[in-house]
Amino acid sequence: MRVGIIGGGQLGMYLVDAAHCLNHTTIVLDPSLDGPATQNSDEYICGDYDDPTCLKQLAMKSDVITYEFENVKASVIDYLTDNFDVLIPQGKNPLLISQHRIREKRSLNQVGIKTAEFSEILNKDDLEKLKQERKYPYIIKTCSGGYDGKGQWMIQSDEDFEGFKQDYQESIEYIKEAMVDFACEISIIAIRNAEGKIVTYDAIENIHQNGILHLSISPARIDEKIQSKAKQVASDMMEKLDFIGIVAVEMFVGKDGNIYVNEIAPRPHNSGHLTMDSYTPSQYENAIAAITSGAIKEPHRNSDSVMVNILGQHLDQVMKHSLPEHAKLYLYGKKESKVNRKMGHITFTGKGLEEMIQEAKAALK
Ligand code: AMP
Repeated sequence: MRVGIIGGGQLGMYLVDAAHCLNHTTIVLDPSLDGPATQNSDEYICGDYDDPTCLKQLAMKSDVITYEFENVKASVIDYLTDNFDVLIPQGKNPLLISQHRIREKRSLNQVGIKTAEFSEILNKDDLEKLKQERKYPYIIKTCSGGYDGKGQWMIQSDEDFEGFKQDYQESIEYIKEAMVDFACEISIIAIRNAEGKIVTYDAIENIHQNGILHLSISPARIDEKIQSKAKQVASDMMEKLDFIGIVAVEMFVGKDGNIYVNEIAPRPHNSGHLTMDSYTPSQYENAIAAITSGAIKEPHRNSDSVMVNILGQHLDQVMKHSLPEHAKLYLYGKKESKVNRKMGHITFTGKGLEEMIQEAKAALK
């Protein structure tokens, strides 16, 4: 089939590789002239995600379309499905839900999935009420558009609240979340096909630095009971919200033994890069299978693994460092290296988790 992909970053690039492995051809739409997927996609349209001319081109050249990031406007999906004979099995619902933190939490709570307790800050009255409450700590986030820890304020005191008030903009919607006292953060990558078959990868443990994913550890260092509970939460969510395709579910493992879903991403996930080296099939292959043949496969873990993200500030050091044989370096071919920009990653496989964690940390130092 001809697979159209909206977005040509590293996730799009690995979707392209997976599509090729499954005998499909690809066409990518991305506004950047030199997005990572220019390196491997059969065709590449450079243009805005909501440009009707580019979308028409994408639709005419695709049998099926998917997306590699969640901020594609729902109206883009409507435009494509209303005007062209092209399949978009995932539809717009996963986008609508994941694009807005309040909608996301409400949708999850409605199907019985726990999240952090939350309230909305939609106007100055809500802000005033919150000021009076003075129950710290809590976290305020923009409802839309935040990523990698951006658009977040940790509120531990009146002073922090006043700091937030300085940044507050009436035109923006915010959410206030109670802090979850968690033992660790994990992600479950789940895939569901149109017939309703669901497969899930084992929980991956994620360690963040400055709000950006730093290390992913597979399998997560949690007990079996929590592991199966987390997988069940992800499967229930896929079924009850009728999601098709791949969805990464970011969760907190609460110290109280509960699983709290933090956010969902209806696309391949950074933490799932390690599935390329330690699972058959990878998250990317299952994501493509779900929207093409439907032949998704139960993931088989071939090895434990650890992935470390390489940001712009790490690049020089990584290039000087000699990696052990059981490590694999991936660079995304981005022309410009910037602080906190994801430039590549390293996956370690085949050794003990603690040893690989130390090796991963050493590679960036
Ligand atoms: P997010 O952008 O929602 O993924 O948040 C970035 C990071 O902030 C998370 O990975 C957590 O480490 C932390 N965080 C976010 N929300 C909460 C919360 N409600 N309770 C505790 N920690 C949180």
